[in-house]
Amino acid sequence: MSAKIKTQNSKLKTPARNVPPRWRKEVERVLITEDQIARRIRVMAREIERDFRGREMVVVSLLNGTVMFLADLIRHLSLPLRLDFMGVSSYGAGTESGDLVFTKELRLDVRGRDVLLVDDILDTGKTMSRVLPKIRVLKPRRIKICVLLDKPSRRTEGVEADYVGFQIPDFFVIGYGLDFAERYRNLPFVGVLHPHVCKQACQRINEVEVRKSSR
Ligand code: 5GP
Ligand code: MG
Repeated sequence: MSAKIKTQNSKLKTPARNVPPRWRKEVERVLITEDQIARRIRVMAREIERDFRGREMVVVSLLNGTVMFLADLIRHLSLPLRLDFMGVSSYGAGTESGDLVFTKELRLDVRGRDVLLVDDILDTGKTMSRVLPKIRVLKPRRIKICVLLDKPSRRTEGVEADYVGFQIPDFFVIGYGLDFAERYRNLPFVGVLHPHVCKQACQRINEVEVRKSSR
């Protein structure tokens, strides 16, 4: 079953006001607070428990963006479960999903089992559409997809999640496990990255590229 809620109004009306002072230069706005995340995860966990009761559950989590979400979600799942990880990473430090590389394969046997596939955010759907066939060939009984965030307006692939924490507009978000160039994963909330951070980072990346190509 899919539970979706919309965050309010996508306009950035209150810049920085609810951002902790330490992060104000880099984070434009808190989109989802710690409390909202915690409440939503409890509801999602109850739904998952209902659907997986009496089954052999294997949670497969995609590294690295799921760290916080996964830890909070599974502590609310009162079911026997096993946990494994797949490493998926996209090249480059930009804000678009680039070419995917698998950095860690599954170790647990999922044949005949019920898989809960956990990711931080479903964006274009490219990651999921690469990961799903890799798990399907291992012959699990079924695969359910659980994501903290969903950006439906960006979807290019025919993939949807069964459990969604929050549907969000097309912002580049960071925090609560989500990174920009490997930073900001430690923020306890989901925030919108300040566009100037993006620009600075992109400039640095471009400069490196220019230096490389002029060698
Ligand atoms: P997709 O393959 O569905 O386009 O994107 C999925 C992956 O791209 C996510 O697992 C995440 O790593 C990354 N991604 C997509 N949108 C965002 C975003 O707004 N912020 C961050 N930090 N990562 C994102
Ligand atoms: Mg990811």
